[in-house]
Amino acid sequence: MSVEQNLTEIKSRISKACGKAGRNADDVKLIAVSKTWPADHVQKAVDAGQKILGENKLQEGQEKIPVLSQDLEWHFIGGLQRNKVRKVLSLFHVIHSIDTLKLAKYTNNVAADMGIKTSILLQVNIGEEESKGGFIVEDLEVSFSELIDLEHVTITGLMCIPPAVDQPEDARIWFRKIVELRNQLEQKYSVKLPELSMGMSGDFEVAIEEGATYVRVGTSIFGER
Ligand SMILES: *Cc1c(COP(=O)(O)O)cnc(C)c1O
Repeated sequence: MSVEQNLTEIKSRISKACGKAGRNADDVKLIAVSKTWPADHVQKAVDAGQKILGENKLQEGQEKIPVLSQDLEWHFIGGLQRNKVRKVLSLFHVIHSIDTLKLAKYTNNVAADMGIKTSILLQVNIGEEESKGGFIVEDLEVSFSELIDLEHVTITGLMCIPPAVDQPEDARIWFRKIVELRNQLEQKYSVKLPELSMGMSGDFEVAIEEGATYVRVGTSIFGER
């Protein structure tokens, strides 16, 4: 199947999942995760009308973003080191992977210095796995009031990569857990956290049923890496 056919298929599965969940298909945004693929392969998705793309490494963004069309929206979804924040902010539109208070504060300072305000999502290590980045729920609750006071970053929501599971259905408990956390934070701090970035090739339909607003799909669009 071509990238174009894959995209058509994924979009139809997204609409179906929305239908099943009684949600509007426009409320779920598809991020085509182009990591490891060269610009000419990514271009096929762009030619098919895909506007939102995701990368997990700065260097890959530096290679591809300047050579692809200018009207695309790039999302940074990978682990972020401080020394890369300035360049990531200059290339990407949204960061999904702010995972410590320190990194959030640092990003805020860099954004202030650049004279911009940037949208971020907070990555939550929902399964409390050693191998994964993200706020542990308890730490996020402790840091949250400081996070929402940062003036140059706007927190639009939460992101997670749940523990690996055998069946997509098994990811549901983790998606529910992060939705519950989001709801609690919204209530306690009287803020809106509209975006939920969750769901990948293997489990995006379940994520949509549980409330995902961004699904991050790589393999099912571009092929096996
Ligand atoms: C690679 C990646 C994805 C896409 O995963 P697929 O299984 O290829 O769809 C989504 N989110 C993050 C953070 C990734 O690194």
